[in-house]
Amino acid sequence: CGSSDAQGDMPAHIWEKVKDHPCYSEQAHHYFARMHVAVAPACNIQCNYCNRKYDCANESRPGVTSEKLTPEQAARKVVAVANKVPQLSVLGIAGPGDSMFDWRHTSATFREVSKVLPDLKFCVSTNGLALPDHVDELAEHNIDHVTITINMVDPEIGALIYPWIYFKGKRYTGVEGARILHERQMEGLERLTEKGILTKINSVMIPGINDQHLLEVNAAIKARGAFLHNVMPLISDAAHGTAFGLSGQRGPKPAELKDIQDKLAGGANLMRHCRQCRADAVGMLGEDLSQDFTLDKIPEMPS
Ligand code: SF4
Ligand code: SF4
Repeated sequence: CGSSDAQGDMPAHIWEKVKDHPCYSEQAHHYFARMHVAVAPACNIQCNYCNRKYDCANESRPGVTSEKLTPEQAARKVVAVANKVPQLSVLGIAGPGDSMFDWRHTSATFREVSKVLPDLKFCVSTNGLALPDHVDELAEHNIDHVTITINMVDPEIGALIYPWIYFKGKRYTGVEGARILHERQMEGLERLTEKGILTKINSVMIPGINDQHLLEVNAAIKARGAFLHNVMPLISDAAHGTAFGLSGQRGPKPAELKDIQDKLAGGANLMRHCRQCRADAVGMLGEDLSQDFTLDKIPEMPS
């Protein structure tokens, strides 16, 4: 885990908003808990490092399968957790697919939970393709922050990472698909910044593909107002493999990851202690109570 100086060069008004968030503040992560609910099963893009059998690899460690929930089941689970874990301060939707592809599920979950726990803050993670369509609605929910996974700003590099995207009823491949994804990611980030919604960027570092390119990504997202840049290692997973193109691709060595993170220091503030939690993570950061709150173990909602 990580940096006791998470504030770093973060402006005070942003720090004020995130200091109670367990993922951003070393202090807060001892006092506040977060949970994810897995209400977003489908995805609208294909990342070459994804294995569709498991949770979105942009957010989670490989080889984890979360229990998928309806919005009503998710609300039931959040209430059960809030009753047992009074430090619960943030509810996130981070998969197991893309939170915005089936936006109805994500927004219905926020609505259901707000009815019973109006003070809980929400966060949401996305690959960004559908994001521009939902920024206005996001601003209406109690959204604490949004995370976008951005691995490139050059569609030629993007074509090595994303074999296809599915956009407005059509499949696009190669550079064409990567260009659409890139433009939508930048538009989404700009619109979130205009609305004053804090936005963090995740990047998956893939040696030999986008490692040095992440410096350009960092400059582009910083110019558009992202408040944090979280560079995560590709976790090479021999046991579970990837279903798609980067099968056998190695992850970065710790020294390679640190080298990029050091080069980016002074860019968008870096977050070095993200744990890549599962899409149904529950508890204090570094703790996983997800198996204590599976559907069969939580009570029905009082009517
Ligand atoms: Fe998989 Fe990428 Fe979709 Fe996440 S965004 S579920 S890693 S294809
Ligand atoms: Fe926090 Fe990272 Fe875990 Fe999300 S995946 S809850 S940002 S530590």
